[in-house]
Amino acid sequence: MGSGAVYSGRAQLRLTTRQSPNCGPRRDGVTPDIVVLHYTAMASASAAADTLCNPDTQVSAHYLIAEDGEVISLVPEALRAWHAGAGAWGGVTDVNSRSIGIELANTGSTPFAAAQIDALTDLLKGIKTRWDIRPERVIGHSDMAPGRKIDPGVRFDWRRLAFEGLSVWPSSNACLHSSEKGTQEADDVRFAALMAAFGYSTTTDPELLLKSFRLRFRLGWDGPLDATDLAMITDLARRFPVDVNAAWA
Ligand SMILES: [Zn+2]
Repeated sequence: MGSGAVYSGRAQLRLTTRQSPNCGPRRDGVTPDIVVLHYTAMASASAAADTLCNPDTQVSAHYLIAEDGEVISLVPEALRAWHAGAGAWGGVTDVNSRSIGIELANTGSTPFAAAQIDALTDLLKGIKTRWDIRPERVIGHSDMAPGRKIDPGVRFDWRRLAFEGLSVWPSSNACLHSSEKGTQEADDVRFAALMAAFGYSTTTDPELLLKSFRLRFRLGWDGPLDATDLAMITDLARRFPVDVNAAWA
């Protein structure tokens, strides 16, 4: 990092508009309180824009961010874009009605360009001022559709978003003070309950649930559920319960 403030003082968002026909009204007049991040898994942003605007594909997103940081608005934020598909976060099962979808142009295996992530953080700051969206409700497609989706994938830097207050990360204390180990079976049950308290759907196979958790919070870690996984999800569930009205001790 050179001189000057970190991640600030950048030029304004470079925003262009290309209207996608793949959208409709948000059901029951709800407003967005979730952001879902995706990658396109395509070779170029222009190919992805064509797909997201083609009426035959029935898919879209509110925004597509190109590698060079250009932000393409495809669907107005007030409308329902078609990006999430089957899945859930907390009690929300019509995720499209309750969310804003952002596609990052990326093949899935290449690093995200700095200009692209800078544009994403600027865009998220704007979205957070326009809608009431808590940082823990900025999630990945893989979080709301475990086992079915893996984007935004292993290259995405969730810690940086959390550092900017645009997502969340377990506190480092949680990782040091790993919790007591019970039997594997009891721990699996506890893990599933904590995952649900944070927002994950527990209709998912327990192994896929653990995979999705590690894809987001403990990249590259393998093997059975352990005390560190439990400590991390305990910290997240306590600080960021998906149901803020639920008493979670
Ligand atoms: Zn996706």
